Amino acid sequence: MVTSPVFRFAPSPNGALHLGHALSALLNFRLAHSQHGRFLLRIEDIDVERCTPAFEQAIYDDLNWLGIQWEHPVRRQSEHFSDYEAVLKKLIRENLVYPAFMSRGDIRAYISETADHGKSWPRDPDGVPHYPPIDRRLSARERRKRMASGAPFAWRLDVKGALARISQPIDWTEFLDESLAHSENIDARPESWGDIVLARKDIPTSYHLAVVLDDARQSVTHIVRGRDLFHATSIQRLLQELLNLPKPSYFHHRLVLDENGRKLSKSESDTGLGKLRAAGATVEDVMRLIGLGAGQELG
Ligand code: GLU
Repeated sequence: MVTSPVFRFAPSPNGALHLGHALSALLNFRLAHSQHGRFLLRIEDIDVERCTPAFEQAIYDDLNWLGIQWEHPVRRQSEHFSDYEAVLKKLIRENLVYPAFMSRGDIRAYISETADHGKSWPRDPDGVPHYPPIDRRLSARERRKRMASGAPFAWRLDVKGALARISQPIDWTEFLDESLAHSENIDARPESWGDIVLARKDIPTSYHLAVVLDDARQSVTHIVRGRDLFHATSIQRLLQELLNLPKPSYFHHRLVLDENGRKLSKSESDTGLGKLRAAGATVEDVMRLIGLGAGQELG
């Protein structure tokens, strides 16, 4: 049976969408159309402190303005915490996730005590030092004791333990351009991340866990998103293998940069879509700014 491709745009309502989001949303929407597939919108609102109904409404307004239509109902991650929690509990039972008690300060202090003051300590693709191997080795009894004492902690994935449970190597198909006509195979390197946070003490998920579960629950086949998430794919592929989830294909598209060559951020509101619209910009202006032809067909 040939199933039609499923694309998705998955913004977080923790700030205003900017030109980079417009590129991502439009690429997904146009590709879904040209590939005779489906286009889904997912609201990634697990950060209940920073995500607001007003930002969520602004996402709908901005996408409507761009002429994008999506399927209903929209999946909102905050409505699926029990699903994430069930998977987290399974990983805890399987001893693949452990409570990590060290604060950022503890980690810094630990690393600076290593032989060369941490100079050769491994860092993840974002430049953050790997989590020290201390808590992974704690006995079950000690873990229980510390958790019962109310100490703050996060649930971290034992990446080495996870790699030992799956068949390797793991890889993914990466499309090379917006036509999705050409692709190459990329070897995933989850170990480059160290033991990542999979859930918080009071939020039973993290971005990585929720994103792989939702992509599977929504049968997403093609993940089209910015190049800034290229390396995250390594850890997400590991989770997909570990949880027996289907393997999507990926296209990590170019980023829209500001005049200084930096990635746009949600706080730089002058490139925010709402601000541009209020200042009289048209959808054609947006297309020009992000380098997409107005009626340009893809694929
Ligand atoms: N929610 C993520 C963001 O807004 C995107 C997740 C993804 O496309 O995988 O950056």
